[in-house]
Amino acid sequence: MAELEGLEFGKSDFVLLDEVTMEQFMENLKLRFEKGRIYTFIGEVVVSVNPYKQMDIYGKETIEAYRGRELYENPPHLYAVADAAYKAMKRRAKDTCIVISGESGAGKTEASKYIMQYIAAITNPSQRAEVESVKNVLLKSNCVLEAFGNAKTNRNDNSSRFGKYMDINFNFNGDPTGGHINNYLLEKSRVIQQQPGERNFHSFYQLLKGGSEDMLSSLHLQKDPAAYAYTKEGATCTTSSNDGSNHKAVLSALKVIGFTAEEIDSIYRILGTILHLGNLEFETDAETVQVVGEESVNHIAALTRTEPDDVNKALLFRTVATGGGEVIDKGHNEQEASYGRDAFAKALYERLFGWIVSRINGVIEVKNYNPVLHGKNTVIGVLDIYGFEIFDNNSFEQFCINYCNEKLQQLFIELILRQEQDEYQREGITWQHIDYFNNQIIVDLVEQPHKGIISILDEACLSVGKVTDIMCLESMDTKLGQHPHYTSRKLCPTDKSMEFHRDFRIRHYAGDVTYSVEGFLDKNKDPLFQDFKRLMYNSTDPVLKEMWPDGQLSITEVTKRPLTAATLFKNSIISLVDKLACKEPYYVRCIKPNEVKSPVQFDDARCQHQVAYLGLVENVRVRRAGFAYRQPYARFLQRYKMTCEYTWPNHLMDTDREAVKAIIDAHDFQDDVAYGHAKLFVRTPRTLFTLEQERSALI
Ligand code: ADP
Ligand code: MG
Repeated sequence: MAELEGLEFGKSDFVLLDEVTMEQFMENLKLRFEKGRIYTFIGEVVVSVNPYKQMDIYGKETIEAYRGRELYENPPHLYAVADAAYKAMKRRAKDTCIVISGESGAGKTEASKYIMQYIAAITNPSQRAEVESVKNVLLKSNCVLEAFGNAKTNRNDNSSRFGKYMDINFNFNGDPTGGHINNYLLEKSRVIQQQPGERNFHSFYQLLKGGSEDMLSSLHLQKDPAAYAYTKEGATCTTSSNDGSNHKAVLSALKVIGFTAEEIDSIYRILGTILHLGNLEFETDAETVQVVGEESVNHIAALTRTEPDDVNKALLFRTVATGGGEVIDKGHNEQEASYGRDAFAKALYERLFGWIVSRINGVIEVKNYNPVLHGKNTVIGVLDIYGFEIFDNNSFEQFCINYCNEKLQQLFIELILRQEQDEYQREGITWQHIDYFNNQIIVDLVEQPHKGIISILDEACLSVGKVTDIMCLESMDTKLGQHPHYTSRKLCPTDKSMEFHRDFRIRHYAGDVTYSVEGFLDKNKDPLFQDFKRLMYNSTDPVLKEMWPDGQLSITEVTKRPLTAATLFKNSIISLVDKLACKEPYYVRCIKPNEVKSPVQFDDARCQHQVAYLGLVENVRVRRAGFAYRQPYARFLQRYKMTCEYTWPNHLMDTDREAVKAIIDAHDFQDDVAYGHAKLFVRTPRTLFTLEQERSALI
């Protein structure tokens, strides 16, 4: 495998830059992209630029070249990070995690798949059947999750519309024994509506285009996505993927994972139900609201294993408890009925997705693990979660996603610094503190109890009487008007970056984002009439029943104050951060080179913006302020002993540490290093670079 490459490909580690400036950083990043070098290190962090073309760098030979090697013995690669995480896990029994970040289309999901493939390739050398089967399920789960959780957007033909964190468990041999997937905030509004040029989730088109005649006729569906209100928008989109063949791949993956024929049948009946629901309309006749399309109601009842009359009733009425404890049926108006229909469709899909994930978890969870017999069960976590989003129109979803990124950025800073500090302390070396922007203040703005934005939203959602989005905005203005990272159009009428009175702005660590408060309360409250829940709970389909346990409750038993969407999301992100914080972190920072999916275009301004908000230049500074490189004495000696007469071919000193000192002194590098208990610390990369060059010249 290649040694460190020549300078014509740029610097393979940003810590090697002559000066740490944004200009030099960008120059190097661009040069490497143009030379087809899509990966570059910042120490142990890999910066990746989406190549938008197939690269011949993921094959068996490459895997072999990275297996078990130290980070900078090879050119930068995802495999180097995956191997570092794996080694730490195996040799030191450390739980590790690989956090992949970047904006939509930057290459996170592809990176996560290469990392999983690498781990699958280097484990289980003895091909034990039960380990192979775990690996197979882990790999196949991607295919299923992508079908149900990804969609074509204007930014990415295969955009993940949910966040994913996957733990892979290992036994003492370092072989995978199981795993667990956590999913975060599926963008369910996509089920009922898409932006122009975008599609609904892949699963719908796959079913319509790839489903067999038999399957489609049993679901009462026709092949054309244009025939359904929920898939019409995306019907004419061209995509790079083939829906028909993907459908077959998903079916086969579901079977491999262990979904039964009945379960698979239920999954597709739910998709069919959603498509039929979308085509229902309502009309008012002599003041009573009716469903237009009796046939669709019959199909929905047949597919959900319920009665047509019950479906009809759930669509048109809601049961309410009166003040006197009486229970009555209250008819919807047309608007309420349409709203209910859409809410039901979204909830059906969200619960289907959640159920699929938990069903996969049931298969891959580690069973019968006995730490006494099997040794410590260690974990590598892989996080592929939506990056920072700034659209023309930013709503509740962007608010949640950007809050999540604030939390992850905080963790990045904390862990990168903490990890450095721990290591210096362990090795007995003095650490010099580096300043960085602490985004805690923005995290607090969002999540603080009583005063934070989420709290104010929740308060508005839970108060009795009609509270509008604008009233909620006014309450935020009153409580947060003084906050340095918050402003609203009302507070700042001359600000042109906010157009409307409903706009408010958060100064995020990654830039200013203007949110429109319209729809925030509804999305946060996320109401679904209990009547639909009860309808599903009473289904004779065991899968549907299992998905709707809360349908058991009668209207008088329903908890008055369910947790809001923002609070549920906040809780899930806090628990994610807790999971990551107790692991040794490795980072992949993905950059999207241009907006047009071009393999040759490097859009300087767009890239620089990403580098800035990912804090990559600061990352290089932190890395350089300390010691950019560190290596165990034995390994350093092994690699560079030929560059010094006292150590070649063997040294006669008492310890490896003394031998390493001889090499350093012979080169006059003593000012650039520090000697830890077990490792040599090197401040600037020049030292290693010179040694590498001498070494290459000698062998
Ligand atoms: P993200 O998950 O960050 O939104 P994806 O991983 O889905 O982005 O990548 C978007 C698209 O970019 C992929 O569908 C693929 O076409 C291309 N791409 C990303 N990474 C690579 C890679 N390493 N090699 C080739 N193409 C890639
Ligand atoms: Mg993705």
